[in-house]
Amino acid sequence: MEFAEIEAELEQIRRGRPRGAKSAHQPAALILSAQRAARGQDRVVPWRDMRAQLAEAIAAVGGSVDQETIAERVLGLKDSPIVDFVFSAPSTSRDSGPADRLLDERNPLLGLSDGVYQALGDRENLERFAKLAVDGLPDRQARSIREYFGIFAGFGEVPGVSVGALFRDRADLVKHGVHRNGQAGIVGTRERGAESVVVSGGYEDDKDLGDVIIYTGHGGRDQVTRRQIEDQTFDAPGNAGLVTSHVDQVPVRVIRRASAGYRYDGLFQVERYWSERGRSGFMVCRYRLVKVADEGGQGLDLPAATTLPSGNVAPERKLTTAARILRQRVLSRAVKELHDHRCQLCDIRLVIAGRGYAQGAHIRPLGQPHDGTDTADNLLCLCPNCHVLFDNGEILVADNFEIRSSYANRGVLRTVRDHRINLDNLAYHRGMFAGVAVGVVSSARTR
Ligand SMILES: [Zn+2]
Repeated sequence: MEFAEIEAELEQIRRGRPRGAKSAHQPAALILSAQRAARGQDRVVPWRDMRAQLAEAIAAVGGSVDQETIAERVLGLKDSPIVDFVFSAPSTSRDSGPADRLLDERNPLLGLSDGVYQALGDRENLERFAKLAVDGLPDRQARSIREYFGIFAGFGEVPGVSVGALFRDRADLVKHGVHRNGQAGIVGTRERGAESVVVSGGYEDDKDLGDVIIYTGHGGRDQVTRRQIEDQTFDAPGNAGLVTSHVDQVPVRVIRRASAGYRYDGLFQVERYWSERGRSGFMVCRYRLVKVADEGGQGLDLPAATTLPSGNVAPERKLTTAARILRQRVLSRAVKELHDHRCQLCDIRLVIAGRGYAQGAHIRPLGQPHDGTDTADNLLCLCPNCHVLFDNGEILVADNFEIRSSYANRGVLRTVRDHRINLDNLAYHRGMFAGVAVGVVSSARTR
């Protein structure tokens, strides 16, 4: 299928979208299916297998996770030539009922049509597809969706590329989407953070300690002699990108020069950044990169989703630690952006290096035995003080969002329209501290 045709069909879908183009449901369903093409997975999958993942993606970007809404929007794609719906049983009179029930009972196979699936084998087409699929959504939401599905945003692991993979040259790295610039050492921007860095030993100040790398920013070198001739600044795009990666705690891909070409060495966190005088005598930007430890694919250990009670279920998934961190960051970044990094409990808005700073705090903790979901409705946007107080039960939130705490705060949890909180999670959190003496502010320390 020609890409121009696909483009036209995506435009048709966008125009037909209910409530204008603002709903995230169809874009998320399309990109979820496109991701299957990118990974060489089955072209079509049963509805029951994809709905939990779809709901999770929609929750992450702040869309409505009402089951009927999701089903209705997905069913709205049925007549598009770029989408395949395969119903195994003939339709019945019951098909006129709620979309949710119809999809659930008939469990059709669904995915992209064969022509589209083939076309998306090409990475460039894939990115264009993702971009067009989110067309018409508010910028923030469009970005969140593409980021949620990772591969399109360029962050995190690259599907099909494992740690240790070798590449002939810089062009080969670009071609595989591992480091998407043939020249620069850092791919990134201040706005979004850095996706990848190449450690090539090109800078005299770089120090490679294996799982820790003291990395030097870019700029200030003579093009010909490669000598440092002026100070580096944190305003240079790549340098600013690494600072954003630190503030947002989004891991960065590290590529090292190998004996023959380049090697992908996994994801690293930017633990710290600072400036110092380099050997040349000029100021350089420095970063301490620390490898994200991997537990060998041990991921979230959450129960498999068979139904969608209240619409927030994390499907069973074995993610690598690095992938899990990245996914959590994407989720919490979406939530933090909805609140403009302002603490929901005390209204403080911290700013680090000109970037808003807040933390995504899980209401019901992840992992056993609590098994909280990694979804937006289980996250609060908090300042670090409120985060630690909340995690330890010194701040509790009632169902009417009233705050119970002996610390000065807003009195009522601040909420925004697009970020819903699951009240069951708040109840669970309160329950965790029912038998603990919290809220006792000791005066002993002042004596
Ligand atoms: Zn706070």
